[in-house]
Amino acid sequence: MFDTLQERLGSIFEGLTKRGALSEKDVSEAMREVRRALLEADVALPVARDFIKKVTERAVGQEVLRSVTPGQQVIKIVHDEMVAMLAGGGEEGAPAPSSDDAADDAAGIDLAAVAPVPVMMVGLQGSGKTTSTAKVAIRLRDKAKRKVLMASLDVRRPAAQEQLKVLGEQAGIDTLPIVAGQDPVAIARRAMEAGRLGGYDVVMLDTAGRLAVDEALMAEMAEIKSAANPHEILLVADSLTGQDAVNTADLFNKRVGLTGIVLTRADGDGRGGAALSMRAVTGKPIKLLGTGEKLDEMEVFRAERVAGRILGMGDVVSLVEKAAETLDAEQAEKMAAKMKKGQFDLDDLAEQLKQMAKMGGMSGVMSLMPGMGKAKKQLDAAGMDDGVLKRQAAIISSMTKTERRNPKLLNASRKKRIAAGSGTQVQEVNRVLKMHRQMADVFKMMGKKGGRKGMAALMN
Ligand code: GDP
Repeated sequence: MFDTLQERLGSIFEGLTKRGALSEKDVSEAMREVRRALLEADVALPVARDFIKKVTERAVGQEVLRSVTPGQQVIKIVHDEMVAMLAGGGEEGAPAPSSDDAADDAAGIDLAAVAPVPVMMVGLQGSGKTTSTAKVAIRLRDKAKRKVLMASLDVRRPAAQEQLKVLGEQAGIDTLPIVAGQDPVAIARRAMEAGRLGGYDVVMLDTAGRLAVDEALMAEMAEIKSAANPHEILLVADSLTGQDAVNTADLFNKRVGLTGIVLTRADGDGRGGAALSMRAVTGKPIKLLGTGEKLDEMEVFRAERVAGRILGMGDVVSLVEKAAETLDAEQAEKMAAKMKKGQFDLDDLAEQLKQMAKMGGMSGVMSLMPGMGKAKKQLDAAGMDDGVLKRQAAIISSMTKTERRNPKLLNASRKKRIAAGSGTQVQEVNRVLKMHRQMADVFKMMGKKGGRKGMAALMN
């Protein structure tokens, strides 16, 4: 997601940080380019305009332009305003995260209501509503430890109820038994009743969609809403449809009222315009991102993180969290501590390689690392796979402890010995060393405040 924007902003900022001093004119020229980049990413025009106005107002201030690092200050302002655009502002101000309960937060859904908490899913046909219903249910079960019942209220599409049932069976989530001939409101009532009787914590109501927003659909949603009194009404929208998704959200919000948005197909969306404008236009937060067809491919949307990703600052939080999901907590904590200190030796690299294999291979991890976007593309092109990970691990274990601590010792003859010991080539040993240097640099950069390009400062 956001690939184009990331690239464009990257080169604009490079121009800004290269110069020592900046004039007002430099800033406004850069902002014109940022505006163009936003529009190319399909951000709604008023949103882009407002964004540029806010950034420019703050950036041309004397403190910024007279500072030692004006370029970096401007980037920081862009970052802050991007976070505000993604998370706050909006017509309803910026409500605090919906729940204190970390487990609820992990699932992205507010469950602070009397059980069974009704969660209503709305949206156009094909937006990914049924899939997302199952994904959310799984998250609520696994992350928030809730007992979930799912019910399909879609009586228009003949196979819709069956589809949810099949997903429920796949995921091990209960679905409301199908009764032919019931209307959506009757099903909603029956679902809530079954939720109460069955001791469920949450009842997910998957509603019918249409190809476009129409009055009949809105009337049906309003009726279901008043019958089930949902605590969350989540619009499922396809990010690939860009500003149409934003307009759909706006219409649903005005007519039915939404509590949040689930943006699907983020995996295929290179532009990200919907994600970027959704909050500013509708005033409603994006709560979750669908990142693939599989039922575990969903992430909580966090503005800070997304802004960091767009500005090419990597996604250390995601990385550490992903690691924590895969590994034991102690390992993840150690890793985070090392990152902070900027320490990273070959033993750490060996540990990372082992973990990378567990975390979906090198490219999965690289995509989350700051400054690793390019490296990842190269790796992909070089066909790095898990076999490579194993060979690299073998190379490191063929080194002595001293060599692992101090890779500078590795002269030609030592490298030859290591290649022989690991059944690889010297070239491959060199590649491992280069990768280590790159990662160590990144760690150092993140560890030192005000490091290269001030990225580290922005991470904190
Ligand atoms: P509905 O008509 O809104 O209920 O849509 P479905 O849930 O049936 O989804 C339509 C298609 O989109 C299915 O093939 C899903 O697998 C796919 N889909 C849903 N969410 C995502 C996502 O986040 N990423 C990708 N790549 N595909 C998705």
